[in-house]
Amino acid sequence: MTGTYVPKPEWLVLDWHRVCLEAEALTVQRCDECGTWRHPPRRFCAECASPASSFEPVAGTGTIVSLAVSHRSLDPGWQAEVPFATLVVELDEGPRVLAATTTAPARIRIGSAVRCTVERRSEDFVLVWAEPIDTETTEG
Ligand SMILES: [Zn+2]
Repeated sequence: MTGTYVPKPEWLVLDWHRVCLEAEALTVQRCDECGTWRHPPRRFCAECASPASSFEPVAGTGTIVSLAVSHRSLDPGWQAEVPFATLVVELDEGPRVLAATTTAPARIRIGSAVRCTVERRSEDFVLVWAEPIDTETTEG
């Protein structure tokens, strides 16, 4: 996955990427007034309209709530990885993040527990990864 396109985020999203880079971990914006988590970053809190917020570390654990499987890639840098899944992960803290995964699409299930990490892709961009947590043993 070398040579992939690296987006150039701006404004509050750039702030979020830079905080994750500095923390070397996933962070999420949180309202300083009421504590509500929100992602993607926004100027005002949807619950209390406060403009005061901080980016705080999160556990990184969550649940897959949706996914899309790519069978070909518009970015040549990802073509060798197809088919691959892009996940929507609902973090244990509540907000949802997009994440890449190295897990084969056939092994991914909505509702599975995952752990998210961040990978530095540039000085201004982190890629969020999510991999299943092997809590499942034999079902039945
Ligand atoms: Zn608030």
